[in-house]
Amino acid sequence: TDFDTGVVVVGAGLAGLSTARKLHDAGVDVVVLEARDRVGGRTLSQTEGDGLLVEYGGQWVGPTQDHMYALIAEFGLETFTQYADGDNLQLADGRLLRYHGAIPTGDPIIAADLMDAMVELTSAAMEVDTAAPWEHPRAAELDAMTVETWIGSQPYCDGAKVWLRTLTRAIFPAEPGEISLLHALFYISSGGGLEKMIGIINSAQENRLTHGSMQVSQRLAGLLGDRVRLNSPVHRIDHDADGVTVHHEHGALHARRVIVAIPPTLAGRIRYAPALPGLRDQLTQRSFMASTIKMSVVYETPFWRADGLSGHMVGDNRLVCTTLDQTHPDRPEGVLVCFIDAAAARRALRMPADERRATVIEDLVTYYGEQARNPVAVYEKSWLDDEWARGCYVGMMSPGTWSTLGPALREPIGPIHWAGTECATKWNGYMDGAVSSGLATAEAVLAEIAATAEVAR
Ligand code: FAD
Repeated sequence: TDFDTGVVVVGAGLAGLSTARKLHDAGVDVVVLEARDRVGGRTLSQTEGDGLLVEYGGQWVGPTQDHMYALIAEFGLETFTQYADGDNLQLADGRLLRYHGAIPTGDPIIAADLMDAMVELTSAAMEVDTAAPWEHPRAAELDAMTVETWIGSQPYCDGAKVWLRTLTRAIFPAEPGEISLLHALFYISSGGGLEKMIGIINSAQENRLTHGSMQVSQRLAGLLGDRVRLNSPVHRIDHDADGVTVHHEHGALHARRVIVAIPPTLAGRIRYAPALPGLRDQLTQRSFMASTIKMSVVYETPFWRADGLSGHMVGDNRLVCTTLDQTHPDRPEGVLVCFIDAAAARRALRMPADERRATVIEDLVTYYGEQARNPVAVYEKSWLDDEWARGCYVGMMSPGTWSTLGPALREPIGPIHWAGTECATKWNGYMDGAVSSGLATAEAVLAEIAATAEVAR
């Protein structure tokens, strides 16, 4: 048979580009097919106005995200530390409280309960093997519960429960009632514990890339040159024992293998001939994209810093769930990045754009005072409306999915392999997990090639 290439990779996000780069370095001929007119997927760094860098997608890296730091070092990319001086804000029962560190300590009773909950969730999470959550001895039981069932059954005070719900919306970002408890524990385990995930310094929000996170993907794509084909959505994959024919917008490629490096939800929208096994399709039906609108609100200066505030806020049930100081170190403007998470995102999308903005500004006035009323610019992106993401940050498992369909997430089907941050065992859902999933899948494919003694090129 005449092959156009050795391996086709679907998707030029961090996972697809990492997998393609590793195969390419090992001497395998690859082509990456990307639907969008750019690489980077769920990272999107764009210069707006007179030169302000806006991060619309994934942006922070932190300790233990070694795959991302390795790429940053390899490409010589500059990073800076997330601003975290001063107090954070917590809205609890209508009271605005100040606190410092990862866990709100403004109210001692709430704080004590939260400490207990953090320890409880983290230690339960560490019992989940992220490579095979379905093997947990109580997998079926944990998978039949949601995070909300768990919160509701705990003896914590109402203030602590409110914060746990907000925390769930911020981390996933989905409603506590939507997510399997087993999935939540899996996710916490993959991030190395809650404290590593929710804090800023010494945590997942510690560093940013000075010129935007999308640079990492652009550099990876640079190494692959014209092997990366943009504007080429993949619609259908024909497959048999000899290989695949990958049909995209502008034609078809015949290859030995394909690596589908997109979220399971989107992978389920490609047509496969012959059709994939029912267990795989049911898995893609039950993995859903979480919901966030990320809004950068720009002011003349970072005025909150003068009030001793860090710009980090954890809200209650308003449109704005959390904020962080998004001010760029090279620029005079102050920027608050607002996350409108889960049900709030759905609520926000039913509003006209000007009403949504006005509501967000009103929330910011509640948190940061009258000075927040007059931004000079607002930039927002709804990832729900993005055809090639359909939500974010990551695909989530609904109850009952891990325990009954879990193995279908990563198991290859003949010549079809899977990658993407959803497949990661460490930092699942993060940029780092995207890279590691890509590398792991490339390794598996290289092992197969070695075993069958194929000619690589
Ligand atoms: P993607 O980036 O989604 O790449 C998949 C690619 O496939 C896309 O380019 C898509 O266009 C393409 N594609 C889809 N379907 C097809 C098709 N049929 N044919 C061809 N191409 C297709 N992570 C962090 O580490 N830190 C953060 O601070 C952070 N914050 C986030 C904030 C937001 C608002 C968002 C959206 C994400 C955030 N994340 C963060 C998550 C992080 O961005 C993702 O985990 C990561 O970028 C996923 O990479 P991926 O390669 O697995 O998937």
